[in-house]
Amino acid sequence: MATSARDYDLIIIGAGPAGLSLATSLAAQGRQIALVEKLPRESLALPAFDGREIALTHRSVALLRGLNAWAHIPPAEISPLGEAQVRNGNSHRALRFAPPRAQAAALGHLVPNHLIRRALFAAAASQPNIHLLTGLAAGAIHTSANRATLTLSDGTTLTAPLIAAADTRFSETRRRMGIPAHMQDFGKTMLVCRMAHEQPHHGIATEWFGFGQTIATLPLNGTAAWPNISSLVITLPTRQAEALLALPPGAFAAEMSARHHQLGTLQLVSTRHAYPLVAVYAGRFTAERFALVGDAAVGMHPVTAHGFNFGLVSQHTLASLIAEAPGQDIGAPALLRRYASRHRRATLPLYLATNATALLYTDDRPPARALRGAVIGAGARLPLARRLLTAALMQGATPAHAA
Ligand SMILES: Cc1cc2nc3c(=O)[nH]c(=O)nc-3n(C[C@H](O)[C@H](O)[C@H](O)COP(=O)(O)OP(=O)(O)OC[C@H]3O[C@@H](n4cnc5c(N)ncnc54)[C@H](O)[C@@H]3O)c2cc1C
Repeated sequence: MATSARDYDLIIIGAGPAGLSLATSLAAQGRQIALVEKLPRESLALPAFDGREIALTHRSVALLRGLNAWAHIPPAEISPLGEAQVRNGNSHRALRFAPPRAQAAALGHLVPNHLIRRALFAAAASQPNIHLLTGLAAGAIHTSANRATLTLSDGTTLTAPLIAAADTRFSETRRRMGIPAHMQDFGKTMLVCRMAHEQPHHGIATEWFGFGQTIATLPLNGTAAWPNISSLVITLPTRQAEALLALPPGAFAAEMSARHHQLGTLQLVSTRHAYPLVAVYAGRFTAERFALVGDAAVGMHPVTAHGFNFGLVSQHTLASLIAEAPGQDIGAPALLRRYASRHRRATLPLYLATNATALLYTDDRPPARALRGAVIGAGARLPLARRLLTAALMQGATPAHAA
């Protein structure tokens, strides 16, 4: 990956999973791409475990295969998600989402985030036309009707017909371009870690909206030492999450065992990680010779597990529109308008529904408690509604995509 060229077909800011995917998609079209990342190269090549287990839809698995990234993920680290259940408070009733019997496929697959990043880095690193500029932050951007120019933290200047920003949900570049964003700060923190447990999980993910806390369990493949392992995601007011994070491992496991009974005694088997719970939706996805992809465009609340799934969709939509216009200006306003409207249609309904659901299920006032119990009861009695939601989760599922 040389760094001498200064003029490119595309400049991408941020080599997270969205930026890496976009670079790889466009490299396959023969484009010269500058991929700018403020982290050092080593932390991209070998990112450490960050607690996140990403639930991938079948469509996302197909996209990762197409990017030659899926083959870089060790099969033992891909956990099938057989079924999902939503529970409310002390009620024994659950809203269940399972694949239709005729279709052997799982609902989706769980893969650790750091392994997705590692795999996408390996795929991108094998492309000679991706010029990776690491340890450098994106700075000032200037755009005109013909060209976009980016200045890096070391003073280097890059130019291209289009700049795409994939620099987190708190994107500095988005703000620099004058694009506002809707931010829903839930005032809570998610604490994530892997825990071994006594009872088997049977491949079932659960989202339990307890009073004052939400605990999700995601079923992972066991190991010889720990046959039953799940990822636990506990959402709490930030000060409570900090107190839990500060507990020594033994006391933490005892506290978690007391809070969550379904899987028996719990034991901590990984590091713990905390993330602020903030959902973000950009007011616009494009500006003059500029596009937002990944979390910088749509930063989802994780409850519906769609953040990176949407990130993959965004890069695929942009790369497909560019592929459909060979020899044409890839930063042309008409192309960017089509990208923005397709991605908005693909994401806005679920973004709004996810935030509304998250607010309802974390509001512990009596009317909200009653309403969510009724929603789960109605969902459990309405097989058609459940079937429609399951179909959305399984979008892109074919027997070939089943693990
Ligand atoms: C607890 C948790 C659980 C989740 N579960 C799921 C799930 O089940 N399914 C799912 O689909 N999604 C899930 N997500 C969401 C998913 O992790 C994100 O959508 C995804 O990681 C975002 O990728 P990205 O590339 O857009 O951004 P990021 O991963 O944030 O990467 C952005 C990159 O840009 C770089 N950068 C930032 N600023 C600059 C700058 N100025 N110059 C250069 N580089 C810069 C950063 O260093 C970083 O490398 C979850 C998230 C959390 C927190």
